[in-house]
Amino acid sequence: MTRTLINDLNNHIDEVVTVKGWLQTLRDQKNMQFLILRDRTGLVQVAHYRPEHPELGEHISALGTESALTVTGKVVKNEVVKLGGLEIQLHDLVIENNAEAPLPYDPFDQENMPAIDFRMDWRYLDLRRDQNLLLFRVQTLLEHAMREFWVNEGFIEIHSPKIMGSPSESGAELFEIDYFERKAYLAQSPQFYKQMAMAAGFERVFEVGPVFRADPSYTSRHMTEFTGLDIEISWIESHEDVLKFTERWLNYAFQRVKDELDEEIMKVFGIEVTVPEVPFPRLTMAETLDVLKKVGYDLPKERKGDLDPGGERAIAEYVKNEFNNEFFFLIDWPITVRPFYHMRHPDNPDLTRSFDLIAGGLEIATGAQREHRYEVLKKQALEYGLGLESIQFYLDFFRYGCPPHGGFGMGLSRLLMVLLKLPNIREAVYLFRGPNRLHP
Ligand code: ATP
Repeated sequence: MTRTLINDLNNHIDEVVTVKGWLQTLRDQKNMQFLILRDRTGLVQVAHYRPEHPELGEHISALGTESALTVTGKVVKNEVVKLGGLEIQLHDLVIENNAEAPLPYDPFDQENMPAIDFRMDWRYLDLRRDQNLLLFRVQTLLEHAMREFWVNEGFIEIHSPKIMGSPSESGAELFEIDYFERKAYLAQSPQFYKQMAMAAGFERVFEVGPVFRADPSYTSRHMTEFTGLDIEISWIESHEDVLKFTERWLNYAFQRVKDELDEEIMKVFGIEVTVPEVPFPRLTMAETLDVLKKVGYDLPKERKGDLDPGGERAIAEYVKNEFNNEFFFLIDWPITVRPFYHMRHPDNPDLTRSFDLIAGGLEIATGAQREHRYEVLKKQALEYGLGLESIQFYLDFFRYGCPPHGGFGMGLSRLLMVLLKLPNIREAVYLFRGPNRLHP
């Protein structure tokens, strides 16, 4: 018999149907057995009158919670049942996979939720929670809306290699791997290759793919592998063109999520989706440092013009009060804290045409106009003390007609943290990878 989804049972009153799902709870009484069955669309009560099939009753009594079951029975209206006012009267049951008892923990016991580290050991059970099912539906829709926007604006999708012959960013945070007789590196970003697409005349590209960082930090926002959302656009006048694109794109994607899933998000996460208003405020780094001084936030000295997470939060609070926006761009960062390929301001060579996007007090993207003039780029690389040999393949992109261009790199899980107001990136990723975590 074809499968009926639980949220469709209302259309099958008085019919015999087959539903498939997990046994969330079992109320095993003398004569009656009530099974609460869950599939990806909801919950339903299945009722079994023991004296009718004593043997089946024995099987049901022996079931472990979270067993995977196929249930056949008649759908009947029953106003007394809290779950949708209907229940299934059991005719037949197939135990597809009995769950061992006891479970490592009960993912549906909200009161006694173990710490995230323990839950990650049993991630496939943890993912069965409503929050997680919804979270990944939100991620799917968010990504879909982003792609829709890109495709409608004439972007081309690329998939650049993640095994590289030389580092794509600074030497720090680099995973080195054995590659036959030599060393190779895991890509820290698709930076070089998306710029190559500009030299190739693609004009506008995006990539959604893995990014690797050998970052030994144990924060609530860092992973050693994450999914990056990257774009690069040609023929820009300055980084302002990238900002304009970014805010429209995010506004669209958030609006799509709000339109389709706002109610469910409110029910499960207890929050309303906030669609960021366009334009996002822009603050230069110089203005930001002034504001931080005024509000009395002392940046650690060793930061040399960079912001620390506390600084990001302090300036975010200022922007929220002043402009009522959770999203804003910090622009024009000093060259000391930016990579060699960021373009410098024509009227102030100490500043780059770069930006960070801060949302909900968290850095979620970094971008810039890139230097596309071969000689200037070479000079900047030398100033940073880079050996030209290892990046010559990259410098070559700029020798045969490469247009002005810029783009950004954004972390998908950080964006989800902001959207769903999650305190820890471990909750916003399918499987977390960190210095201490390689399984499951
Ligand atoms: P941070 O200062 O937070 O360590 P970063 O400056 O190293 O980040 P970028 O190299 O600019 O980050 O990367 C672009 C974006 O990728 C970041 O804004 C963030 O959204 C995401 N990102 C960077 N590093 C990580 C990480 N270790 N884990 C998860 N996301 C990350």
